[in-house]
Amino acid sequence: MRRLDKPQALAALAEARASIPPQFRQCVMCALAASAMKPNLFIRETEHAVCVLNAFGSMPSDMLVVAKRHLPTLAEVPWEVHEDMSRLAWEAGRVLERRGAKRVYLAQLGSPADIPTSYAHAHVHVIPVTTTDESARPAVVLSWSSGVIAYDPGEGEALAASLAASFQESPSTVTGTFRRSKFRD
Ligand SMILES: [Zn+2]
Repeated sequence: MRRLDKPQALAALAEARASIPPQFRQCVMCALAASAMKPNLFIRETEHAVCVLNAFGSMPSDMLVVAKRHLPTLAEVPWEVHEDMSRLAWEAGRVLERRGAKRVYLAQLGSPADIPTSYAHAHVHVIPVTTTDESARPAVVLSWSSGVIAYDPGEGEALAASLAASFQESPSTVTGTFRRSKFRD
């Protein structure tokens, strides 16, 4: 594992974009959702979303929850898709806490159009934060100013498999049943 500075990261991302199979029309998120990117860093999937290890994360174990469909704006994201993505992000965040993160940032940043560092396709960043000083500020973590993590060959796949196993250690206990508070009214 090594850290790429921003120019190196942008060059690596441009290279990854150039390798997207044509049916995904240059959308990295669509390719990620279909496990069509190399390396394949798939962790988990639900009906409407996939969770992958971010190949260009700001921290080690930084994950992405990506809608399976190409949905550019929130107005186009049906509630059931948003709910499914939120559940998966919640599970992923709890995995990171169990694995030692001091806190976890969940961020659906969005972009009105594809730009070098983001995509117009619904996704949530699940970022472990291990420090408590200035380097933990969202303005630092949610930026490429400090560069990104790059995994060595095989390393990302192994970490994705390890994270996938961690999801199994404490399955979601939410049943979906709404319980009315006894203190209501
Ligand atoms: Zn897409």
